[in-house]
Amino acid sequence: MPYLVRDHLFIGNIGDAAEVLQHGSDEITHILSVLSSTSISFFSEWRSGISIPTKEIRKEYVGYSGNADAISDETKSSSTPKKLLYLLENAGKDLKFIRMAVPLRDMENENLLDSLDVCLDFIKESRKEGSVLVHCFAGVSRSAAIITAYLMKTEQLSQEDAIESLRQNCEFVCPNDGFLDQLKLFEQMGFKVDHASSVYKRFHLKVLGDCYNRGERIDTSKFGADPGLAAENISSDVDVSLSKETTSARTYRCKKCRRVVALQGNVVDHVPGEGETAFEWHKRRSGNPYNKPDDECSSVFVEPLKWMRTVEEGAMEGKLLCAHCEARLGYFNWSGIQCSCGSWITPAFQLHKSRVDISSM
Ligand SMILES: [Zn+2]
Ligand SMILES: [Zn+2]
Repeated sequence: MPYLVRDHLFIGNIGDAAEVLQHGSDEITHILSVLSSTSISFFSEWRSGISIPTKEIRKEYVGYSGNADAISDETKSSSTPKKLLYLLENAGKDLKFIRMAVPLRDMENENLLDSLDVCLDFIKESRKEGSVLVHCFAGVSRSAAIITAYLMKTEQLSQEDAIESLRQNCEFVCPNDGFLDQLKLFEQMGFKVDHASSVYKRFHLKVLGDCYNRGERIDTSKFGADPGLAAENISSDVDVSLSKETTSARTYRCKKCRRVVALQGNVVDHVPGEGETAFEWHKRRSGNPYNKPDDECSSVFVEPLKWMRTVEEGAMEGKLLCAHCEARLGYFNWSGIQCSCGSWITPAFQLHKSRVDISSM
């Protein structure tokens, strides 16, 4: 039986969803299925096996949700398989249920954040029209993580308080540790997935780094747009962000040829002197013991950008060369680089401040 979490909001397992589709429900009108791609197909086969009618409404694919121009690039390159973002359908007797299936594996390194917007919107809309069942396979980790995020956002609760509150209704919920970490980031971003925030940028870099370490080919559609290419568009974007925020947007140019190589928005901030503890031994051995944490960093670290051809070539580490004059601007290393302040940035795409001019536009 599904557990009632809030008015018109239930949590359950795959058996609960099957039961609702097969025999109907007095209350539930919407179903959010958060399952692995394999289970989504298996679920469809089971359903057609016992002749539960379905009608597809919409399928959305995503190349890389952090970057708007990636989707058009994605359609251009047929070699890159597109990732299903969600599937929306009518299902059940008289097609009376609206069901959304979102592929998500119950693994610590699975990217939960990029699925949150679509899931939380679906829950919100469903509760206006009826009642929604959010389910995964066991009803313990994935569905609980989604509902936790929903409670955080709608009730402005911390990650801990939201889980505690959910446990009042369903005591065995237990999102995996990776999901818990991401829900913490969701809290830090103000209960939204803010792609422009440094919290998200660091997270996204880590996701890319995990892909690289798993041996997956990093396709450049996952990289940030080259700020040196669309100078006119970029500068109008910057104007917009300038009027919205009060901070001045910086532009980073190759010192030798003045080509724009990065904008403020591409920079992934780090706290000077704050290292990953796993690398402490390395810092002691190779770092400067006299470096004060507040010493100014000699480098800026940015997200991987489309002009970085040496990164595209797939090496673990290498030089970053200016796309115009091939001057050496810095270095990249998927397993990390230590900044002059002592911080480790992993993975790292580093521009030496001595090789770039920094100007405010
Ligand atoms: Zn630093
Ligand atoms: Zn140059």
